[in-house]
Formats: sequence, structure tokens, C-alpha cells
Amino acid sequence: MTDNLEKTRVLSGMRPTGALHLGHLCGVLLNWKKLQQRHECFFFVADWHALTTDYAAPPGAAQTRETALAWLCAGVDPKRATIFAQSHVPAHAELCVLLSMICPLPWLLRLPTYKEQKDSPGRDLDTHGFLGYPLLQAADIFAYRAGAVPVGEDQLPHLEFARELARRFNHLYGRTESFRAAAKSALDSLDAGARKSLEACARRYRREGDADSLEAAMQLINESAAEKNKKKILRAHLLYDAEEIIPAPRAVLTEAPKLPGTDGRKMSKSYGNAVALFDSPEEVCGKLARMQTDPARKRREDPGDPEKCPAWDLHKIFSDKKKQAWAAEGCRAASIGCLECKSALAEGVNKTLAPIREAREKYDKPGTVEAILRKGARRARAETERTLAAVRRAMLLQTR
Ligand code: SF4
Repeated sequence: MTDNLEKTRVLSGMRPTGALHLGHLCGVLLNWKKLQQRHECFFFVADWHALTTDYAAPPGAAQTRETALAWLCAGVDPKRATIFAQSHVPAHAELCVLLSMICPLPWLLRLPTYKEQKDSPGRDLDTHGFLGYPLLQAADIFAYRAGAVPVGEDQLPHLEFARELARRFNHLYGRTESFRAAAKSALDSLDAGARKSLEACARRYRREGDADSLEAAMQLINESAAEKNKKKILRAHLLYDAEEIIPAPRAVLTEAPKLPGTDGRKMSKSYGNAVALFDSPEEVCGKLARMQTDPARKRREDPGDPEKCPAWDLHKIFSDKKKQAWAAEGCRAASIGCLECKSALAEGVNKTLAPIREAREKYDKPGTVEAILRKGARRARAETERTLAAVRRAMLLQTR
């Protein structure tokens, strides 16, 4: 994460779609643990998002609790991060409805995830909810005015969609007389040369989307003598030619390590190939013993190639360097058997999972997770109300 994101508020969510596994731990939760050290974080169980695809068999409240419980046991800290369930914060839905009024339908229809998944066999996703789920994601982000959203590469188009939507909203509702006056006063406070350069960059950026012009203009604003509030107005003038009612979020690309399941495909509950965070040590050993290996090692005396073995991908994450060297050399020289190798891997996985299992005793008590979710939702509702008040005002709705 770059320096200018240091103080940024972070929002991220996860659907309650089943027992969390090593893929969730390595792909999401370890990153959340780092983010919560340095950022104000809002992490939510995306139970409404789950309904966009699983409406016929809703995961239910127990699954929401189980998801939050796994986060807590994995080290997501309710004292550092706000943890809540999406459906406990109605502002997400209200904002989604209001944004739907300005969201051009082709923007949603052209998103790759919609085109790829709409005709998935075995489920009918030709629904308003599924088409609109990126809009709900945008509402999730905007409700907290989150500056940074950790995403995988496949979610980048959704973030770009949210950024475009924020720009459209600000452009539609932020071009008020008072903003024009404030922008003029901020521009007048610059010396003539800086003002001229800034206006030229702003024109090029708005007309052609020229990234260099944007960067040059941002630098000019940062280096100008204008006070903090005027810099903010100048940035909004540059980005939207309007007040920034909804900040456009930035994607923080998270690189998840390759994490195969026991059958060699990506680890996923739906493939039935996952090692769950709350599996017992014996279950972990049993699952990994059945894990696929390099097909060239039909017999113990056949040498193998770790790079062709899914168990090796897990060794690289869960075993220390010494054990990795032992496994790689032993595999190539056929001096160890696959069962022996996978048993050593299970030790590493169990070492990682031991504190998570232990933490379950602390958190898995009647009412504990529920109280954390309730407290998080209270904090989240208070935060979202500020955004909603500004959005309602901008759209000329009756204030409450
Ligand atoms: S020895 Fe280890 S790395 Fe080699 S094929 Fe067997 S399980 Fe995989």
C-alpha cells in the first residue's frame, strides 16, 4: 500500500457462503490483519450479496455468525476494526436504491462478471439482484466514504465501475453555485502561472482522461500554498468539476498466493477440496494425505518434480525453509515418499491453525459474536448516516 493511502479508510466484505478455509486465510484474512494495524477498517459479512446468487437457498444467520467467528479467531480484532453484518445497516440498501436512479444500465450489462456468470448452469441468475450487485458493492463503499478497497484482479472492473459512478454522482449533484464560488476563490488564491497550468491540466484530464495531466495537476495542488480546505476544493474541481459528495475509491490490489485444494484445483468449498480453518488436526492430516501429487510419482522410487505437485504449493506457504528444502530434494531424489512429505506439510498447516482453533474457545460462547456484530453495526450505522444525509441533501430529498 502506497504512502498516500496510509490514513485511508478501508472497507472490505466477504459472503457467508460456508466454512472458511485456508484460501480465505491466505487470500483475505491475513491481509485484513495487516490493514487493521494501520487503517481505520470496516469489515462486513456480505449477507445481502450472498442472496444475489443464493436467493433460493439463503445461507442464514447462523452462517453469518460462523463467518464472523472465523474472522475473529483468525485475528481480525474488533477493537481495531468495525465488524458487522451488511443487513444490519440499512443505509447500504437505501444508497443502492438512490444510486440505481443514476446508474446507466449498459454500465452494469457490460461488466465481465455479469456476462460470464449470468448463464451459469444449475442456477438462474437472470435477476435484477444479480445484475445490480456491483451497484450494491458501490453503495457499500460509498456509505463509508472508503478511500481504499482491497480487491483481487477479477474485481477491478467493479472498482472502476464504482469510481465512474462516484464521478457521475458528483457531476450531477455537486455543480452548485456555492461550489463554483468556492472553486473560484480557491483558484484565485493561486498565483497566475499555477492557476493557468492547473486549468490546462484539468481541461485535458476531463476531456481526454489523460493520466499524466491528472498527476501534474495533483502535484500542482499539493505544492500550492493553498490551505487544506482549498486544496480539497481544487482537487474536486479537477476531478469532477463539482463538489466531491462521494469520493471515488481506489483499488488496492491484493495478491493472493496460489492455493490449491486437495484435488489440485483452486481451493473452494464448492469443489469439496478445502481444508477448513476449524478442521481438527486429524481432519487436516487425513485431507492432506489424500491430496494429489505429481502424477509422475506412481511408485515411491519414482523421482518427482515439486513444481508439478499441488502439495508443494502448500509447502511453500506453510512449511519453513528447512522443511521445504527437505521436501524438494527428497521428491527429486525419490528419497522420501509422498505420504511422508504430506505428513510434514500437515504439521505446518496444523501449526498455523492451532491458534485459530484455540481462539474459538474464547469467541464461540453464546452471545459473544452477536454482541460484536451488534456493536459493529451501531458504529457502522452512525458512520453511514453522515453519508446518507449528504446524499439525500444533494438529491433534494426531504431531510430527516
Ligand atoms: S514428494 Fe512431496 S512434493 Fe513430491 S510429489 Fe510427493 S507430495 Fe509432492
